[in-house]
Amino acid sequence: MAKAATRRCTQCGETRPLSDFHLDKRTGTPRAWCKPCSNAYNRAYRRRNLAHVRARDRRYWHKYKAKRDAYERRPDVRRKRSVRQAAYWAVKTGILPTRTACEHCGATSPPARLHRHHPDYSDPLRIVWLCTLCHGEEHRRLNDERRKAEGRSGKRAGAGGHTAHATRRGAKRHARGKPRG
Ligand SMILES: [Zn+2]
Ligand SMILES: [Zn+2]
Ligand SMILES: [Zn+2]
Repeated sequence: MAKAATRRCTQCGETRPLSDFHLDKRTGTPRAWCKPCSNAYNRAYRRRNLAHVRARDRRYWHKYKAKRDAYERRPDVRRKRSVRQAAYWAVKTGILPTRTACEHCGATSPPARLHRHHPDYSDPLRIVWLCTLCHGEEHRRLNDERRKAEGRSGKRAGAGGHTAHATRRGAKRHARGKPRG
């Protein structure tokens, strides 16, 4: 690339790689201040205006409470949670054996963290032990597969908006690397 991917921070004056700058949410362009400078500023601001910041956080919490509650009440969300819980207890009580290695790559725990992946949520006690990396990979693969299948069959009238929404949310979460079960 011809243009060097660096920027000079207008606060500390240092030239840093673009990854050292937060992106402006609206414009998508790097901010004028580097991350260390803006983080330091934000910390200082928080200390100076603690009461105000706490009130703002509280307002934010209340503003999205209804949304959070609605999500928690969704049948698919509740069902998956209880299935994960069932698997957790089955392992805890010895009904299901525990594992110390990822079934895909063999990474051992510790230091790897193993997840109880459900290939099929209608079968609560069928789990696959996967390390966090393989688990993320597996869900990206499943999502790709599903997207392809949906693409072939076009819009499925029977699927319903709710389910489609749920899967999109799930895909987003998994893309960020935090598969849940
Ligand atoms: Zn700076
Ligand atoms: Zn693995
Ligand atoms: Zn999973």
